[in-house]
Amino acid sequence: MILWENVAYLVDDSRRGKAFDTLRKKAGLTAERVAAAPREALLEAARLGGMLPEMRADRLRFIAQLTLSEFQGDLRRALKLPLPRARKALKLFPTIGDPGAEKILLFTGTAPILALDSNGLRVLVRLGYCAERKNYGATYRSAQEALAGQIGNDCAWLVEVHQLLRRHGQELCRRSQPACRICPLVTACGFGRIATGTTLAAS
Ligand code: SF4
Repeated sequence: MILWENVAYLVDDSRRGKAFDTLRKKAGLTAERVAAAPREALLEAARLGGMLPEMRADRLRFIAQLTLSEFQGDLRRALKLPLPRARKALKLFPTIGDPGAEKILLFTGTAPILALDSNGLRVLVRLGYCAERKNYGATYRSAQEALAGQIGNDCAWLVEVHQLLRRHGQELCRRSQPACRICPLVTACGFGRIATGTTLAAS
């Protein structure tokens, strides 16, 4: 997942998938193989993943070297640590902040966390679960706090929640020009009701 996040930047999933597949074919995905791969192989994958390919190729190598030096080549060691230490260990890697670390912890079935990407977070803010705070991290924590106690402990269900909120944010609840008029959630959404002139009585 860390290689997936770093092989591309600001591209859609299809293009990211092509870059990742190229990395798999040209270098491999284990720490040993990425660390030993020719730079051109890493660059070939990174070029498919958007801007600044040289920087991202170097990051791929750094990720592999860090995995070898700190985790003996096996990041499952990090997942076995107590949760705060596991989160901290994952955040050693480039581009992995709290949301990225928590996504890994959730998707690997390590911890039932409400991990959200920016699309999912936007949906929850617009639906009114939390307010937008002064920075992304504060808004992210505010959404998690608002839903604490309601999310259960089923990682598979939370992965589905993550994916559905992400997709809703990508396809309907877009950053600009959200498609509130055709959104099935509009009557439950303060933002959507204002945007469409829908009233609670009409709903
Ligand atoms: S009604 Fe609009 S703002 Fe609300 S969830 Fe749907 S698309 Fe997003």
